[in-house]
Amino acid sequence: MLTHLECTRCGEHYPADRPQSVCTKDGGVLYARYDLAKIKKNFSAAQLAGRTPTMWRYDAVLPDADPVSLGEGFTPMLPSREFPNVFIKDEGLNPTGSFKARGLSAAVTMARHFGLKKIAIPSAGNAAGALAAYAAAAGVEAHIFMPKDVPAANRIECDYYGAHVTLVDGLISDCARKVAELKDSEVWKKDGWFDVSTTKEPYRVEGKKTMGYEVAEQLGWKLPQGIIYPTGGGVGLLGMWKAFEEMEALGWIGSEGGVPHVSPRLRDVGISTGRPKMVCVQSAGCAPVVKAWEEGKSSMEMWTNAATLASGLRVPKPYGDYLILDILKKSKGIAVSATDEEILEAARHWAKVEGIFAAPEGAACLVAYRKLRASGFFKPEDTVVLFNTGSGMKYLDVLDVPGKNVARAPANSASAKPAVRHIAGIIGPY
Ligand SMILES: [Zn+2]
Repeated sequence: MLTHLECTRCGEHYPADRPQSVCTKDGGVLYARYDLAKIKKNFSAAQLAGRTPTMWRYDAVLPDADPVSLGEGFTPMLPSREFPNVFIKDEGLNPTGSFKARGLSAAVTMARHFGLKKIAIPSAGNAAGALAAYAAAAGVEAHIFMPKDVPAANRIECDYYGAHVTLVDGLISDCARKVAELKDSEVWKKDGWFDVSTTKEPYRVEGKKTMGYEVAEQLGWKLPQGIIYPTGGGVGLLGMWKAFEEMEALGWIGSEGGVPHVSPRLRDVGISTGRPKMVCVQSAGCAPVVKAWEEGKSSMEMWTNAATLASGLRVPKPYGDYLILDILKKSKGIAVSATDEEILEAARHWAKVEGIFAAPEGAACLVAYRKLRASGFFKPEDTVVLFNTGSGMKYLDVLDVPGKNVARAPANSASAKPAVRHIAGIIGPY
C-alpha cells in the first residue's frame, strides 16, 4: 500500500506512480511511504509463516509490482561459535553473493514496472554485479560505471550478465560523475534511462530495509541491542532504521504474538524490544562516517585518497550522509574504523572459527565488535548482530594471501605451480 514518496529533508511529497530521483527542491533522499494503518488492519506478522523465504515475503510493506526475483533475502542468522550472544547475518548467500541483491531486486522491479529500458549505476563493485543480474532477469539494459580496479569477480560477472561496462580510472565518486554527465545528455531522456545510484532513487532502500524485517523476524520479533553494519553508501543502515519505524507502527515489534521460524535458542536470548544501537564500521583508509561522527558533524566531507581492499567501503562521501549520522545519534550508536590488516586477520579468523568465508567489509564487523567489547560499549550479554554483507568468493584477488596452513608441493612435482596462481596471473588484478 505505497501511497507516496517523501523528502527526508523538507518533507515534500512526490507521487509514487512514476520514476523519481531525489527532492527537486533540496536534493534530499526520497523515502517510500505506505498506509501503515491500513496494512496493520489487513496483515499481521503471524501471516508471514510459511511464506516464500525471500525478501518478497514482506510484500505487504513493499511497492505493489511484479517482483524481479532471483531468490534474494531471508539469509541465515547464524549464532556465533565464538561469542554467545552474537549473530552473524550472512548476506553472502544472496544471489550474486552480496546484500546488494536486495536493493537492486527492488530497484529493477520498479524500473521494469515503470517501463524503463536502460538503467545506469556507478558502483564500487557488488552493486554492479547485482544490477547486471537483475537487469538480465528483467530484460532491461544495464549500464555500469565501475572503478577499473574493482575485484575481478565484479567485472567478470557484469560481462557475463551482458551488461555494458565502463571501467573508470578513479573511485565510485568519479563513476557517479560519469553517470551525472550522461544524465545531462539528450539521449538520456530520449531513450528512457534511469539512474539507480545509491539513495538517488527510492527503492534500493526499500529492498535493503528487508534486512531489518528479517533481523526482527529471525529473532522472534524482538530486536538486538546492537547491529554492526559495514557502511559505504549506508543504504542498509537507512533501510533497517526505516524498517524498525514501520514495524513499530505496524505493531510487529514489541508484540508477544506468533513467533514463527524461531529456534529455542533464539527464543531464550533475552533480547530487548527497544531499537538497537546502530554501529557503522568503515575502513581506516576511507572513513568519512567515522570522521564526521567523531567531530560531531551532521554532514560529511569528501574523504581524499580513499584506499582499502574492502572495495565496498571505498565511498568517499555517501549521498545520504545526513541520514546516516542522524541514525547513529538517535540510536546511541557509534562509528568505528578497521585497518586493512585488521580486516584481513578477521576474515581469516571468521573463516576458521565460524566457517564463514566473509567479504572484507563483513569481516570488518568482527574488528568493530572486538573493539566495542574491549571499550565496554557492548557487554558480553548484549545481543549483537554482525552483517557479513557478501561472500569472500567475490574477493579472491584481494584475499589471495596464503596463510601458514598452505603447504607447497615439492619443486619437482607437476603441481609445483598451483593452477590457481597461474589463472590469477591471467585474469587479474586490473
Ligand atoms: Zn526536500
